[in-house]
Order: sequence, then C-alpha cells, then structure tokens
Amino acid sequence: MCTVHVVSGPGHKTPTYQSRLCFGKENKEDYNKRFLIFRTLQPILKFGARNSFSDTTPYGVKRFTNIIATKDPKASKRVILSAHFDSKYFASSPQNQFVGATDSAAPCAFLLDLAEALNPLLDARQQRLEDGEEDDMDVAETTLQLVFFDGEEAFKDWTATDSIYGAKHLASKWQSTPVQNSKSFVPSPLTEIDMIEHFILFDLLGAKNPVIRSSYINTAWLFDAIASAEHRLAQSGHFVYKDPKVDTADNWSSFFLPRDKIKINFGGIEDDHIPFVKLGVDILHVISNPFLSVWHTLKDDASALDIPTMRRWNFILRVFTCEYLNLVPPTSHARRIDDELLSFSVS
Ligand SMILES: [Zn+2]
Repeated sequence: MCTVHVVSGPGHKTPTYQSRLCFGKENKEDYNKRFLIFRTLQPILKFGARNSFSDTTPYGVKRFTNIIATKDPKASKRVILSAHFDSKYFASSPQNQFVGATDSAAPCAFLLDLAEALNPLLDARQQRLEDGEEDDMDVAETTLQLVFFDGEEAFKDWTATDSIYGAKHLASKWQSTPVQNSKSFVPSPLTEIDMIEHFILFDLLGAKNPVIRSSYINTAWLFDAIASAEHRLAQSGHFVYKDPKVDTADNWSSFFLPRDKIKINFGGIEDDHIPFVKLGVDILHVISNPFLSVWHTLKDDASALDIPTMRRWNFILRVFTCEYLNLVPPTSHARRIDDELLSFSVS
C-alpha cells in the first residue's frame, strides 16, 4: 500500500490535516480511497457528490464511483481540476501488487492539498463579491470544481470500451443534465457541460523531471500561465528544499517544455479528458510525456515519488489556481508557503 501525505506547515488552521490516499486493487481499498477523498473534501468544498454507476468490463459488470466537489454549485462557470483515483487492475501475481503512486495517487494528493489551501481564499472572494468589493465580476462567476475519476484504467488492454469508464459516464450525464438554479443570464437550455470553462487533467506526476507539453492550441495561453507560475516561483527561490544549492533561482529546470520547441500541438494521449474533448470542452492536459519509466510497473510505488518535485507541484497549482480565480492570499500566506512540508511513507 502506498500512502501519500500532504502535510501543511505550522500556520495551518488545522495542523493535523493530512491527505492520505491508499492504493491497491481490492474492493475494500477502493472503498477506503473513496472514503478518504470524500471525507477530506466534505468539510472544505461542502458540495461533495458521489456519482455511482455500473458498466460492462471484460470481467463483467462492475460498479464505479466518481467523486465531485464543487465550491459553489450555483456559479455560472466552473474550472475543473481532475485526476483519476483508481489503480490499474492486474489479474495475476506479482503484477497485482501494482499501486500507481504517480498513476495517480500523487495528482489526487495535489488536488486535496489545493482544496484545503484555497478554501479560505475562495470564501474570502465570495465575501468580497457579496460586499461589492470584487472588481472582476467575470472571474468571480467562476467556481472551483474538483473531479476524481474512477475507472480510468483498462481492465485488460486499452480500447474505446475498456478504459475511462468514469469520464465517459460523467461527460454523457452532464451533456444531458440541464442546469438548475444557475446564476447565469444566458438563455436556457444549458447543460452541465456548458458550464465548464476549462477542464484541467493531471496524470502521471510526482516523479522527478517530468516533461509537460502543450497539447491543445486553444489552451496554449493556459499552458503558458501554469509555466509562468512555475518560473516566478523558481525566481523567488521557492523550489529550494533542504539543500540550498539545489533548485535555486539560477539553477533549476522547468517541468514545462517551451511551446516554441514543439513543432506540432497534438492532443494524442488518451486519458479522462477525451469524452470532454468530444463535447467541445477546452482542455489542459498535464501529463508526463514521454511516460515515466515506471509506468504500469511495480516500480510505480512510493520509491518513484520525489519530495521536492511534489512540493513544487503543490506550489505551482496553488499559484496558478489563485491567479485563475482571482484569489488574494493574505500576506501571512507567503510565509506559510515557506513552511510547507510534503512527505510520503509506505505502510
Ligand atoms: Zn495508468
């Protein structure tokens, strides 16, 4: 079992908070994963929902459950940050010991950390809005939605039918679900799909030296924005971790491949975003490309994870999301970031 802990620093409101994701293939552990994600999100993003359904797999009909948390269900637009929480099934030993630390325990942990860190800032933005102090009304109409997909992995070989069970179900459901109680002034009929401003998917992350490419030209600006967040954090020395000579402002390398080094933009990697692409949703796919060497092997366990890398991802996601949603961290928050810790353990 691989457990990823995201532990916040001393300035934290709830110092005992930990995000734990346990990975394994047994039903009981699947239940535990869902429970831990849901329990963590419930007091933060209050509107958590389970989206359960059945689908036919090569091993018969199986039950799946996506987990969705929405800060403000009445908001007219949503930015979705997502990852899958299932681990790939292998029928026989020793492959059935596969855990999937980068695929996708670590990305799930990043999202839980983000929810916990940004929740007070989202509340403060809402208060500014109610007090008439929010300048950018357009941005203020966008809320944060986190989606944890079940059934991303194929049970056997990846095919259109044997893969991304949760994403296919949710995209189809949202396409046929009219929006209710929306604050939007746009005439109906709108569906839940129409509410998605951007869909951002994280996968195969947490190991050292990932290479992230821009996959879609219409979200190239969003790719540049997340790369810019990383650059500014590096320049301000936030990537120095323990060894002051490592990842200093002058000595670091980006996770993001500059777009002028890519001849063609392509969205060719199949993942949970595909059903949403087909419905015209704008996508940012944050995935290591080429795939990590540990991909779908027993080596994708805790030993594949790199603490400074995961710490960097947490910082990047916080800054990127704050800027996207026009959240204003208090000055003390900057100091808090310096105190952040991130650790993982095997149990
Ligand atoms: Zn996988």
